[in-house]
Amino acid sequence: MAVQEIVSLPHPVLRRKAHKITKFDKDTQKLIEDMVETLRDAPGVGLAAPQIAVDSRLIVIEYGEGEEEDEDAPKKLYVVANPEIVEASEEKVAGIEACLSIPNLVGEVDRHERIVVKGVNRFGKPTRIKAEGWLARIFQHEIDHLDGVLFTDRASRVWQPREDEEIVNAD
Ligand code: ZN
Repeated sequence: MAVQEIVSLPHPVLRRKAHKITKFDKDTQKLIEDMVETLRDAPGVGLAAPQIAVDSRLIVIEYGEGEEEDEDAPKKLYVVANPEIVEASEEKVAGIEACLSIPNLVGEVDRHERIVVKGVNRFGKPTRIKAEGWLARIFQHEIDHLDGVLFTDRASRVWQPREDEEIVNAD
């Protein structure tokens, strides 16, 4: 296992549509382990494979329900290959996002409040995840990465945070 370098703009892999994962062999397991390690090292709450220059449809998210209020809230790790949003609430909420691949920029982005994500887990078995609030936001941000879409494309406004402005959710 190894921490990988996180690529940032203008690296072209961040703008490409990533390929579906069809094999869940040793190489895929290694990629997953590298991504989890890189995410924890960053540290961040979510990471998509293109962010380590691999154009595969794979995301990892580690997030605890209630983490905004309590940073010791228990975290849950999600590993999803070929994720797809199959249901989304009409209701959208605005929130401040940052991205490990776009240093020194944050933006206000409208995201669906609730979504259902379908995909496959690390062993190639179908999985279905219901997410709301911040977790739903993180999923939408990461799935966008697989289509070459960045939060700055969706933001109603983008700015450079002041040094004392704390950004809690970097992915
Ligand atoms: Zn990102």
